[in-house]
Amino acid sequence: MRIAVLRERAERESRVALTPETARKFIALGADVAVEAGAGQNAAISDADYVEAGASVTSRAQAAEGADIVLAVQAPPPDDLQGAKPGAMVAAIFDPFGRQDRVQGYATAGLEALAMELMPRITRAQSMDVLSSQSNLAGYKSVLLAANAYGRAFPMMMTAAGTVSAARVFIMGVGVAGLQAIATARRLGAQVSATDVRSATREQIQSLGAKPVFVENVEGIEGEGSGGYASEMSEEYRAAQAELVSSHIARQDIVITTALIPGRPAPRLISDSQIASMKAGSVIYDLAAAQGGNVEGSRADEAVTIHGVTVIGHANTAGLLAADASALYARNLFNFFSAFWDEESGRPQLDEEIGDAIRLTRGGAVVHPQLVGQSPPD
Ligand code: NAD
Repeated sequence: MRIAVLRERAERESRVALTPETARKFIALGADVAVEAGAGQNAAISDADYVEAGASVTSRAQAAEGADIVLAVQAPPPDDLQGAKPGAMVAAIFDPFGRQDRVQGYATAGLEALAMELMPRITRAQSMDVLSSQSNLAGYKSVLLAANAYGRAFPMMMTAAGTVSAARVFIMGVGVAGLQAIATARRLGAQVSATDVRSATREQIQSLGAKPVFVENVEGIEGEGSGGYASEMSEEYRAAQAELVSSHIARQDIVITTALIPGRPAPRLISDSQIASMKAGSVIYDLAAAQGGNVEGSRADEAVTIHGVTVIGHANTAGLLAADASALYARNLFNFFSAFWDEESGRPQLDEEIGDAIRLTRGGAVVHPQLVGQSPPD
């Protein structure tokens, strides 16, 4: 079993899918590990660290040569994997609904594409869930970046020169990222409130010491929602939410938006006129900027000033914590493969529940039920 790890080539991608720790663990399972030179450089892992762990460090083409498994953060172009074995498994983030052309390329190349972001939300897959591990870090970093862009302090300070009042922080969308954003803003001393469409989050918000702000007159999503995910809300709900947000947001200094709906553009939560109601100098961090944006006018990887409010949103916020993000991502991949490692054949044998949920291509065809029969975009 040969495992290959290539250097990430996507713009602003600083993470790597293998750490020396997981290299050692894969080798202990009986695999050979080949890493492209420089793969860990942006995550503070040197080639020598990989060699010390027992991996070989080589050129891109040689690393891919004869690979049975390729590990990546963002799926590499299939052309880069020409030397891999027929049917090799590629575990990575694929953005399968946005990049159907690439999925088709994997099918044509005869590779088995495994989209780690489609990992089902079941208890036994928690340790394999790359969305959770990366969102947690992104939620933390979003608060730090917003605090950095804010020209005032977060905690209340009583000084001889007068009192500085606590910042008011509002978190919209309380999934993994939102919960970590609440905790981080609280630790920095802010007054925190938060909202979500799923009723189960109300208690979670309270347990972190923040104030829940919820639409009361129109029903949201009871409990956790299907698989923990939100769906698109009714017109009536959206109108009630907009009204609630309008009255709340004008009094906020920092807003962090994290709302996502799987396979769909991010829901619009903040309009231009709501931004206009905020005080000049306020900051909005849009964690969904790259998925279409929760905030009108936000642009991925750019800071824009709208009505005196700074609106920011990096496309790859977790990647700004490259070392931790890589360590957790690499462990997710190891947990995934090792759970299915078959000692007799010395290779992973995926089961139906998880395999069918994440497999995009196999045997030369696109096989994922949500993609079969859809033509790739022009
Ligand atoms: P997500 O990234 O899909 O979305 C972020 C949040 O935005 C969610 O809480 C969602 O409800 C919210 N949202 C969507 N539309 C909204 C709108 N219009 N207005 C306000 N909020 C909106 O979610 P996530 O962070 O991946 O987590 C969602 C849930 O799944 C959490 O309860 C989490 O604990 C659970 N989860 C479970 C597992 C597991 O069991 N393996 C793994 C990961 C997450």
